[in-house]
Amino acid sequence: MNILQEFDTISAISTPIATGGVGVIRISGSMSFDIAKAISNRNEFEPNCITHGWILDGDKKVDEVLILPFKAPKSYTGEDVIEIHCHGGVNIVKKILELTLQNGARHAEKGEFTKRAFLNKKMDLSQAEAVADLIHSKTKDFVITSAKNLSGVLGQKIKEIRTSLFEVLSKIVAGIDFPEDVKEPEYDYLISEFEKVLTEINSILSTANTSNILRQGISVVIAGRPNVGKSSLFNTLLNLDRAIVTDIAGTTRDVLKETLDFGIPVTLIDTAGIRDDEEISKVEEIGIEYSKQSLDEADLVLFLYDLSEGMTDSDNIIWDLVKNKNNIRIANKSDLTDKNTPDLKISTKTKMGIEVLKSKIKEKVCDINPETLEFSTNQRQQDCLRQAKSALTMALDGAKRGELQDMISIDLKSALLALDEITGEVITDDILNNIFDNFCIGK
Ligand code: GDP
Repeated sequence: MNILQEFDTISAISTPIATGGVGVIRISGSMSFDIAKAISNRNEFEPNCITHGWILDGDKKVDEVLILPFKAPKSYTGEDVIEIHCHGGVNIVKKILELTLQNGARHAEKGEFTKRAFLNKKMDLSQAEAVADLIHSKTKDFVITSAKNLSGVLGQKIKEIRTSLFEVLSKIVAGIDFPEDVKEPEYDYLISEFEKVLTEINSILSTANTSNILRQGISVVIAGRPNVGKSSLFNTLLNLDRAIVTDIAGTTRDVLKETLDFGIPVTLIDTAGIRDDEEISKVEEIGIEYSKQSLDEADLVLFLYDLSEGMTDSDNIIWDLVKNKNNIRIANKSDLTDKNTPDLKISTKTKMGIEVLKSKIKEKVCDINPETLEFSTNQRQQDCLRQAKSALTMALDGAKRGELQDMISIDLKSALLALDEITGEVITDDILNNIFDNFCIGK
């Protein structure tokens, strides 16, 4: 058997706890098949064959189900796994989970199935992290990128880099250990190998920013004085009635946020109107403070004014806060006037100009084509790459100075360790727990 680690048997509901067509309870560990036998009317399970049956609580029927048995190591976790596909009712899945726990399983922790898959070498750490990325992806494009990581593209790239560095290290070590038989490698060879790998690492790191944007998205703030139509624009872009739209100034008392899929996740923020009135209520004051803060943090500001009134003094005060930021200046309520302006004319009422605005937003913030990304990296992986880069730069400098190869090998080993952390060849429990804490239960 390929199983490297022996664990207890765990069980969890793997589908959302909500009403749906199907609910799935997953059991993993050596007792899985016995538990399935104990809680169903079936006594035999042929691996990889869907088995129809009933879940029983004593002699009472609980639900008619399909049972998917997987024998180790040919399963998601690398252990014996049973998946029970039942009807998707909250109380059905809970009841079946309860039966598995009563019969010897322990409730799985967050990400524990995937953690076992990693520990049993069914996937490397970059693939395990891709599972979390896939689940939490905010856009369809990021799903595609995460799937590339899941299929092992990043892991493979790192392994290739690792292999070439390891070969260099082996030559250095052989030269040190057997000076009579093996000549130490030429410094020119070391320099050219280190430079090659550094170029590779730099090229991966050059996509870090894109990866971060695809993962976290960008924030687009709608700013303007009260009543110019910010909430109306927010709703129009979102296509729903999320913000309250009224004729009375100052109804958006809080900051509203929604995330849109523009290829990258765009978090649209409707701010309370910024104004300097003495009679501003406390709640509104807090909202206004938030607006100024949102403006500071925004990647793009949509500055809105009422074209029928033109730019007023209050508009100019806000424009002063916005003009040096990445912005689009928008003249709203163009349905009320024939006035001309070089600004982007829209009407949230007639929807005139909204499509143009959407493409302008894309232009301003998404110069990224997610499809061209070979793989993505997360913060942890980028940190490891930076560590590898800095250790390798030291090794390169050492080689250029003709330093003792024993010394160079120390930096080389640090670079290898940092790379190994990406795929999880070397990893501490703390880092591991931290990664799987971001998963949901049942995954
Ligand atoms: P906010 O305070 O900036 O969020 O403004 P609202 O979105 O609450 O809009 C204030 C008022 O202006 C509401 O009565 C809206 O119906 C109206 N309004 C918003 N956009 C337009 C528009 O394009 N044309 C017209 N005619 N009225 C609009």
